[in-house]
Amino acid sequence: MFFASKNKRRRAAVIGLDGVPHGLLENLARTGVMPRLAEYLRAGHLHRMKASLPEISAVSWTDFMTGTNSGEHGVFGFTDLKPGSYSLRFPNFQDVKAPVFWDKLGEMGKRSIILNQPSTYPARRLNGALVSGFVAVDFERAVWPASHIAPLKKMGYQVDIDTVESRRDPEFFWKDLEKTCDGREKAFDYFWEQEWDYFELVVTGTDRLHHFHWPAGQDERHAYHGRFLDLYRRVDRLIGKVIDRLDRLGQEDRLFLLSDHGFTGIEQEVYLNAWLQDAGYLRFPSDSPKGLEDIAPGSRAFALDPNRVYVNLEGRFPAGAVAASTRAGLKQEIASKLAELRFEGKKVVRRVFDAAEVYSGPHAGQGPDLLVLAEPGFDFKGSLKKKEVFGRSDLQGMHTWDDAFFLAPEDHGPDLRISGLAPILMGHFL
Ligand SMILES: [Zn+2]
Repeated sequence: MFFASKNKRRRAAVIGLDGVPHGLLENLARTGVMPRLAEYLRAGHLHRMKASLPEISAVSWTDFMTGTNSGEHGVFGFTDLKPGSYSLRFPNFQDVKAPVFWDKLGEMGKRSIILNQPSTYPARRLNGALVSGFVAVDFERAVWPASHIAPLKKMGYQVDIDTVESRRDPEFFWKDLEKTCDGREKAFDYFWEQEWDYFELVVTGTDRLHHFHWPAGQDERHAYHGRFLDLYRRVDRLIGKVIDRLDRLGQEDRLFLLSDHGFTGIEQEVYLNAWLQDAGYLRFPSDSPKGLEDIAPGSRAFALDPNRVYVNLEGRFPAGAVAASTRAGLKQEIASKLAELRFEGKKVVRRVFDAAEVYSGPHAGQGPDLLVLAEPGFDFKGSLKKKEVFGRSDLQGMHTWDDAFFLAPEDHGPDLRISGLAPILMGHFL
């Protein structure tokens, strides 16, 4: 870097937009809602990118920051099973078994500011600063170093909107979304002024907006259409601010944007455990099981959120009922039955992945056996409370897998996965 610039460091800034699909981004740029993005799109290369499987933030962002997959980093979902049991646990940053790329940057003497990166709670030491994104239970443990806690609190910083209250009160959602964005932008200004080589900010409000009000973005006559676009106008101003502040953009400095998965509207939610019960693979002694611990003897499979199917294997689970020798056959049978699933004549399942196609690495065996990729519009859930296979809740949008995006100055090929970005970002500093 010293021959690139004698007194200025080579820098990279990343803006993460949680849950923003490739197509929506293109559309907002084309229709003039995001003029600064449009300007950057003309200079850069917009890639359509594959998220993790399952296509959820906890896994996809962990793939991103480690440059690996669940088989290497050991995070398979927002929930996981305690080994040898049916009890759920909530993995956090301490469970991530692969190094994150900013630790490698730190070893190279580079300073990183990581603001609102999901799945980094509790925050831990790095060369720079880290403010954990959701899920962050206790704010005091979401910030490293602790000297930033008081300034962040003073600026009214909050990690996420209150999703429970937002489901109860639509007006509260909009207010809380704005409040979260206000705090985040103040934190952005505060950290930008500090010394750094790598700066990352993740916007979570986009994902929340889509879960609650996806149709508002699609329909001009929708009561919330203007408000939907307002969030993107705000994101666009943030992009503009970064472009303007990186005065050597295209020379020593780089700007990258990405999302962790795509999004679409929900036609129906699909309750995988209800389907497994209907198909005779799963039973509970009562109509209202408290948890998977209540599984009846002889059950052959069960599911965890959102689309993970586990074979109830002997030796792996306390009430395991499937011999290792019949596991492969059972997986195939479940996969082909799921492929036949229809809702009002429509195909529900796009593809069932065998875990071996998705995971590689020392922890691969701790994951599910199958991953069910839905057709757009069919949102899989692992709830045990549902008796019917199909249903609707108040949520309007669902995640999608292969239409996340990555915007970079250069072309990185047609088959990009989120786990492939760490080497690209690191490459800027080599
Ligand atoms: Zn989401």
